[in-house]
Amino acid sequence: MKVADNLANINEQIQAACNKANRDPDQIKIIAVTKYVSIERAKEAIEAGIVHLGENREEGLNAKRGVLGDKPKWHFIGTLQSRKVKNIIDKVDYIHSLDRLSLAAEIDKRAQRKVKCFVQVKTSEEESKHGMDPDEVISFIQQLEQYSNIQVVGLMTMAPFTDDEHVLRKCFRALKELQLEIQGKQLDYAPCHELSMGMSNDFKVAIEEGATMIRIGTALVGE
Ligand SMILES: *Cc1c(COP(=O)(O)O)cnc(C)c1O
Repeated sequence: MKVADNLANINEQIQAACNKANRDPDQIKIIAVTKYVSIERAKEAIEAGIVHLGENREEGLNAKRGVLGDKPKWHFIGTLQSRKVKNIIDKVDYIHSLDRLSLAAEIDKRAQRKVKCFVQVKTSEEESKHGMDPDEVISFIQQLEQYSNIQVVGLMTMAPFTDDEHVLRKCFRALKELQLEIQGKQLDYAPCHELSMGMSNDFKVAIEEGATMIRIGTALVGE
């Protein structure tokens, strides 16, 4: 399938989810997750109108950014080891996987500018999923005030891989509730206006629950 055809299909589904939730589709940005696919395929996504690209490893980011340049917005969506921060920090526009203070300290130290970060939250019981315990998020964000290069633009989560809508909804709702709590604190370093949630199999539910950035790999560019 051409990326453009997949994109048209996804846009229809975004529209339907927005209609259902009474939301404006302009509020939702698609991040094309290109971690499984070639540079050529990522280029096809850009030609189809994609602006945001997501990679989860330093190698993939470097390879694609080396060819595609800095015109797309680059999102780092994978687990980030502190020792790798210095290698990616000047190459990404967003980091979606901030989940510990030691990582925040390293980002702050290596960055030459404010870095847009998402705090990754573990909203499901699944052992394998990364991210912070929801109970720790508020105090974690309060502690980020000391790091002047960190801007908390939002929260990110991964729901478990399931078709059980009830389970998905519960995860996404938990993230939305946390967002509202943080926004209520009116922290200038943590406006938290974005919710990065929803992937190929669950983005419609995520949109109904308030997603502003959906991360789509398989359904858009393939596996
Ligand atoms: C791979 C990945 C995605 C995309 O997953 P698909 O199911 O292929 O859409 C989204 N977010 C993260 C964090 C990922 O690692």
